[in-house]
Amino acid sequence: MQDRMMSWIAKGNEHVQSLTISIITGTACPCLIADDSDETSYNPGWHRANPAPGDEDCDGSGIIDPNKTTTVTNLKAMIFTEKLTTQADSMMDQILDQLGKIQATDLIICGCWDSDNEAYFSISGYNDRTAKITYDSKDYLIREVYTMPESVCQWARLVEKN
Ligand SMILES: [Zn+2]
Repeated sequence: MQDRMMSWIAKGNEHVQSLTISIITGTACPCLIADDSDETSYNPGWHRANPAPGDEDCDGSGIIDPNKTTTVTNLKAMIFTEKLTTQADSMMDQILDQLGKIQATDLIICGCWDSDNEAYFSISGYNDRTAKITYDSKDYLIREVYTMPESVCQWARLVEKN
């Protein structure tokens, strides 16, 4: 299914556009492993208990300077605007329900595929500090991500980054 979706996107249609994702990676901050839950996420409580200097604040990224690197990947995805919500059929309604309240400036994307190797590219698991998407010279942050069954593709709502 994923292959079929990919070849369909590769062929191109009016919605298929190029975008980039910038991902910050580096040394994991100790606050990530201090969390009680299984999820590794930014833990402001750890930073309050271990103030800088000495334990450098990762500033919400979960990654400590100066080991940060930014990797930019070219992606292809189908891009829709809020107008989609007025044209939605019942299947689409179910998907849009997963994406929260859609604002006029939001982008809805469906994909994504790495433009260089045409591989499926997951955009889940990032936060506002570790990833941004650039489309049409504007930067966006990833909000809700909905992964379709069997990881056929992901739908996501992007909000404009101020
Ligand atoms: Zn931290």
